[in-house]
Amino acid sequence: MHELSVTESILEISLRHAGQANAKRVTNLYLVIGQLASIVDDSVQFYWDIISKDTIAQGATLHFKRLPAKLICLDCSQQFNLGSDGFSCPNCMNDHVKILSGDEFYMEAIDVET
Ligand SMILES: [Zn+2]
Repeated sequence: MHELSVTESILEISLRHAGQANAKRVTNLYLVIGQLASIVDDSVQFYWDIISKDTIAQGATLHFKRLPAKLICLDCSQQFNLGSDGFSCPNCMNDHVKILSGDEFYMEAIDVET
């Protein structure tokens, strides 16, 4: 599963950070997920509970922030967020668009207890 490997890398990064900070515990993780990234929050949480067991990151709270996907219209150069209109340009109604961002996934911040 996609989310499992993603969650494993989150755990690895947070344990590395915690080690560098001589932390006793990891308390909060702030994750950013683009609207178009095929990552399900609940699955990440599910795997997290399993793989963080017996590490200093066990019981850490995961915070998810969704970033809207950004598109640009190739006809009128209007930039817009992907919304209820889907992939159509809100300015000229064209669907000749390019995706600028929206599939990102990264850890924005981490709280540890030292
Ligand atoms: Zn347009």
